[in-house]
Amino acid sequence: MAKTALVTGASQGIGACIAKTLAAEGFNVAINCRSEQELENGGREVEAACRALGVEAECFICDVSDFTACGEMAKAVKERFGSIDVLVNNAGITRDGLLVRMTEEQFDLVTSVNYKSVFNMTRQAGAIMFRQRSGRIINISSVAGLYGNAGQFNYSAAKAGIIGMTKTTAKELGSRGITCNAVAPGFVKTPMTDVLKEEYKAEIVKSIALGRLGDPEDIANAVAFLASDRAGYITGQVLEVSGGMSM
Ligand code: NAP
Repeated sequence: MAKTALVTGASQGIGACIAKTLAAEGFNVAINCRSEQELENGGREVEAACRALGVEAECFICDVSDFTACGEMAKAVKERFGSIDVLVNNAGITRDGLLVRMTEEQFDLVTSVNYKSVFNMTRQAGAIMFRQRSGRIINISSVAGLYGNAGQFNYSAAKAGIIGMTKTTAKELGSRGITCNAVAPGFVKTPMTDVLKEEYKAEIVKSIALGRLGDPEDIANAVAFLASDRAGYITGQVLEVSGGMSM
């Protein structure tokens, strides 16, 4: 029976690419979209692309910052596909600003979507994996969580927190055959970074050993490896995929 992967924030960018890459690897895919609008703006397209690869795929609407909604989504995915074998906590947002000007609302929103969501989904889908006695959890962190980034106090805090969650999940669930790892992307071309000025991006490229920004495929391939049987003895690790941005 095909395994099932649930990818949060999968209607565009890195999440959409992860969903399609896992579909190409033979996983059935549950595509999480935040809202009906997001589903129509990208989710349906991702769903069709996954199905075209010969697997089952379906969109599930859920705001991952909502604990109860995450429980309902995990239950619905299990009912639809029979199991949740891989959970990719990918959904994320930015609300950048220097610390001295950052509002409480900016901090709360970014930490609830990027950080609390990982608790919500790991707690809810993790319980299903716990009963299955198997599973793979992959959390999308960031180089901002590893090294900090001026203008991203909220985002860096959330992405660093995810690393603590990753290691603790690995320790708590390892005896149940569940692995948990984080992928820390560098600077990747997606709608999240499209809004940044070209001059800023050119400056960033200068700090990347491989001399280019990342593509969503670069991240999705790392996730696919961690989700595969080949990565069965890797847990609690952070895999930086940044083209050698920080050395
Ligand atoms: P993106 O293009 O903005 O995609 C993020 C996705 O998450 C969107 O589909 C978004 O839906 C969804 N989302 C936002 N809030 C949500 C919520 N409350 N519930 C469910 N889904 C929600 O960003 P991306 O660049 O692909 O980023 C994907 C992940 O990689 C994020 O965790 C990000 O922090 C991380 N990352 C990205 C980079 C980079 O350079 N791009 C670098 C390091 C780490 P809406 O469009 O409806 O909001």
